[in-house]
Amino acid sequence: MPIPRLANLIDGRLVPPQADRWLDVFEPATGAILAHCPDADAADVAAAVDAAQRAAPDWAATPAEQRARLLHALADRIEARLDEFAALESRDSGKPVKLARSVDIPRAVSNLRHFAAAVTAWGSESHAMALGPSNGGAINYTLRQPLGVVGCISPWNLPLYLFTWKIAPALAAGNAVVAKPSEITPCTAALLGELAIEAGLPPGVLNIVHGRGPAVGQALVEHPRVKAVSFTGSTATGARIAAAAATQFKKLSLEMGGKNPAIVFADAALSDADLDTIVRSGFANQGEICLCGSRLLVQRSVYDSFRERYLERVRALRVGDPDDDASDLGALVSRPHYDKVLACLAQARAEGGRVLCGGEAVAVPGRCAHGWFVAPTVIEGLPNEAATNQQEIFGPVVTLIPFEDEAEALAIANGSGYGLAASLWTRDLARAHRLAAQLEFGIVWINCWMLRDLRTPFGGMKHSGLGREGGTEALRFFTESRNVCIRY
Ligand code: NAD
Repeated sequence: MPIPRLANLIDGRLVPPQADRWLDVFEPATGAILAHCPDADAADVAAAVDAAQRAAPDWAATPAEQRARLLHALADRIEARLDEFAALESRDSGKPVKLARSVDIPRAVSNLRHFAAAVTAWGSESHAMALGPSNGGAINYTLRQPLGVVGCISPWNLPLYLFTWKIAPALAAGNAVVAKPSEITPCTAALLGELAIEAGLPPGVLNIVHGRGPAVGQALVEHPRVKAVSFTGSTATGARIAAAAATQFKKLSLEMGGKNPAIVFADAALSDADLDTIVRSGFANQGEICLCGSRLLVQRSVYDSFRERYLERVRALRVGDPDDDASDLGALVSRPHYDKVLACLAQARAEGGRVLCGGEAVAVPGRCAHGWFVAPTVIEGLPNEAATNQQEIFGPVVTLIPFEDEAEALAIANGSGYGLAASLWTRDLARAHRLAAQLEFGIVWINCWMLRDLRTPFGGMKHSGLGREGGTEALRFFTESRNVCIRY
């Protein structure tokens, strides 16, 4: 069968890259080439920005209800082909198809529906002023206007989920979008591009340009007519984007890496379901979720008993063919990432870490014999300062770290350059409240993990992020506010 070629979406048409250069897209479970993706460049980005610029005024003037109807129409089409999208996402990223079917694709649909609804319910503020007994008064009101052309850049770990998390609020708020999915997992965004035409999005309102970060992403960030950039990816790339955007004073939203703590106190009284959640928080999506808890802090008085219950569950996780609903973990996303995770395991051993389970690649027989699988791994015996506990591994690797008391737990948790998400397990709500205010993380979950209400602010502190996404935070980011003051 010929290998399919994905297309860019520019000005409402599916087009090849101008330079006719292509990248291989691999299926992580087999190592085979799955598709060819445009290896686009600054010329394609310029064409997309031109198209977006032409579309922007009419789209901004389109009533919010009509914009919302079109986003719902796109969501309807994705929902109608959920199984096809899930299979494609799984083949492209290596994640179990059951995860793509139950989480990734439904969440992409929810993103579109959420922001379609949010923008129609969104209000602006007004502030009445008294100017004195005989002077009458004035009223201020805030106009929130779309920015024009905006750029959205997304990573490979939750491809359609994070792609829609950005384009939905940008479009809902009335901007024309040039979006760049990860070149490692471009397939579902390409299919979404086809459905955007079917759904009736006006030409130029959504443009999708595929290709490498330094070529397409960088050109998008540097383009003078792109007014804002919403980025999710690694901290190193975020720093490059911030530097490139700085001289043009662009609005930036940066969602970046993490090294998240999960903190288990002796009083947590963990049920089996709680333990399952803690295991999931480390290993869901092969640990390739920015929110995964990769440092598991456990109070010393329950450390031994917790470790046994935890390890029993981790050992029971099945690594296998992502097509098989019995697989809990699929393949890592790419050969370079697989090599990186294995190198991190070698480093952990060299630092003196004790591997309690996993610690190596897994051979999956049959069609997956050449896939990039790594066993869920638990390591203990490393101080928080060790490189293994400081660097983001972004794979199925969790370290266990004992602590004595609340103060030590807090010091270890905050002892990281990152600050994305923390989870706390305790029955003492006063303690939970106290710690939630002191943990330097943008998201704190108490007795849960990855419960996401799309209205809430989402983002990281320190090297994990700049700005917040979610709900009205995202709508604010994608608009310019202007105060109008009328004296009467
Ligand atoms: P990455 O930074 O390598 O790539 C992310 C995107 O940026 C890709 O589309 C890539 O092509 C593009 N890019 C690369 N170089 C660029 C440049 N110079 N200019 C503009 N764009 C460029 O990240 P990744 O490896 O795809 O994703 C994994 C990382 O993403 C992890 O660090 C993870 O923690 C992070 N992540 C963060 C969140 C969050 O919400 N904070 C969510 C998911 C993933």
